[in-house]
Amino acid sequence: TVGAVAVDSEGNVACATSTGGMLNKMEGRVGDTPCIGCGGYADNQVGAVSTTGHGEAIMKVILARLILFHMEQGQSVEAASDLALAYMKSRVGGLGGVVTVDPQGQWAARFSSLQMAWAAAQKDTLHYGLYTGEHFTQSI
Ligand code: ASP
Repeated sequence: TVGAVAVDSEGNVACATSTGGMLNKMEGRVGDTPCIGCGGYADNQVGAVSTTGHGEAIMKVILARLILFHMEQGQSVEAASDLALAYMKSRVGGLGGVVTVDPQGQWAARFSSLQMAWAAAQKDTLHYGLYTGEHFTQSI
């Protein structure tokens, strides 16, 4: 997956997600990535999310929208991402990773998978990394 979220100076948010799908996928499989609320979701009133991981699990919990639901309930971008990933892992046994941003520019890159590469750009600054282990967060 290559996924992105963005927020502009007026607080407009956006998401984009692209994937080759799962290895050895069934012919004709439609994964989570093109499904609204699963591979991504963006709402100017809440934030934007792009997801990667086990698509069948992501679709069962509607992962991107679930994160925004937690944010609507007052959770931070980090907490909302962690809550949804933990729920997906415990409820349907799926692993994944997400990038999340809110209209104020708070963002998180969180994952339950073994690793996830990410990058963050803010004006003239670029941060990036490949981290292993669960629940890493970084802010710039
Ligand atoms: N979520 C994708 C799928 O299940 C896989 C990926 O993360 O690229 O099709």
